[in-house]
Amino acid sequence: MLNIGLISKTSQASTSDLWKEFLSEIKNHVTQMTFNTWFLPIKPLEIKDTNLKVQLPSQFFWEWIDEHYKSLITKTAQNIFGENIKITYIISEEPENDITNLNKTEARIEKSVSKIPKQEINSFLNPRYTFDNFIKGENNQLARAAATAISENPGGTSFNPLFLYGGVGLGKTHLMQAIGNKILENYSDKKIIYLPSDIFTVQFVEAIKSDKVNEFSNFYRNMDVLIIDDIQFLIGKEKTQDLFFHIFNTLHQARKQIVLSSDKPPKDLKGLDDRLISRFQWGLSADIQSPDLETRIAILKKKSEDYGMIVSDEILEYIASNITSNIRELEGCLIKLLANSSLNEKDINLELAKRTVKEIATDRKVSVSIDSITKTICSFMQIDENKLRDKTRKKEIVLARQLAMYFSKELTKSSLKTIGLHFGGRDHSTVIHACNSIEEMLKDDAGIRNLVDNLKSQIEISCS
Ligand code: ADP
Ligand code: MG
Repeated sequence: MLNIGLISKTSQASTSDLWKEFLSEIKNHVTQMTFNTWFLPIKPLEIKDTNLKVQLPSQFFWEWIDEHYKSLITKTAQNIFGENIKITYIISEEPENDITNLNKTEARIEKSVSKIPKQEINSFLNPRYTFDNFIKGENNQLARAAATAISENPGGTSFNPLFLYGGVGLGKTHLMQAIGNKILENYSDKKIIYLPSDIFTVQFVEAIKSDKVNEFSNFYRNMDVLIIDDIQFLIGKEKTQDLFFHIFNTLHQARKQIVLSSDKPPKDLKGLDDRLISRFQWGLSADIQSPDLETRIAILKKKSEDYGMIVSDEILEYIASNITSNIRELEGCLIKLLANSSLNEKDINLELAKRTVKEIATDRKVSVSIDSITKTICSFMQIDENKLRDKTRKKEIVLARQLAMYFSKELTKSSLKTIGLHFGGRDHSTVIHACNSIEEMLKDDAGIRNLVDNLKSQIEISCS
């Protein structure tokens, strides 16, 4: 398929030409299916000196290629780009783990959205998310219709703000990004920005530190379309909420489009300023629910085609009947199936599908989130969850907060920074301090040991 002549390393060949050359060499060493699955989706971003930056679709994807194709990639990259080449991997969808380096000793952590964009606006939209590949279903009918309407007429409908809500992995981010991409396509001159609310908070804190709050605020007030994902993470962050309130008002008065998402409807966002909640209800709130069986099958069909997989209807139906609540998990199952099949060079059959579904169910059991930890601890200790996020220094609250941080570090893969952010925007040193204090207490306080044991089993039960 790719037939590219050799380009000398010293010539001024573009990243994309060299990348094509890289791919065509890889292709000689792996099967077509492996190639389509694990190499075609890698997107080269830029090459600077000896550093090649590429983008991967997910953390899982990175772990997979790191485990199975590391040496092939390293060797091939050295051949094509030169002996000293270093590859930096950007994982686009997961802001917690943006960049990972295959060579972990040289790992460099960056944030793809850590700086305030200046003259040129980077919208942070991922072109992978479009309306075309968003499957219609009863579960997303209203949300999708409203999203389409505003992308044709941003700011000009009564759906302002458009507030999308629903559980994890049901397509909120996909739909919001599709809105942004469509508007960009329809109105190339519009200033659009997409960002998750915790990144907004981090930027705001940085702006305060560097005395650039006005610039920060003006930047957002100048947008034509502001898309903020997972707005529930503003809970407990009063200053950020206050600034966001003013930005919201400016944009709304100027009839600029605002799109927000959350895991709950506005009225249930306890701990968020009432002024914001009432504004969120000015436009349209639309929920996305879990998809029904037909929609799940349609999604699997579309995704499997996108991955170049050949999967029978029987298998698709089996997966769709057994993975029911979350589209991200459906997608994960398909990728895992592909992985299992390409690793063992086996066809995708029902038996393999059954095994893969089982593996997913086991993975689910061990996946614990910071939110579920917080909930379990607060209900066990009978404490209001919001107290963990504010500044209260009451002994009992401090202990609950420290325990929640301790378990978040022990039981999730979240970074210290992320953990701190969940507890009222505290910084990573507070999290380290919390973990150390719990460990100290565990050494000589039998009561705490007992409490920690009890909590641990509660958390495990609540996540299984
Ligand atoms: P959320 O933001 O609600 O947690 P995402 O938008 O990240 O969920 O969706 C999780 C995954 O499921 C994404 O890869 C997305 O592309 C996919 N997805 C969700 N809904 C649909 C849909 N209706 N059609 C196709 N893919 C979908
Ligand atoms: Mg999301």
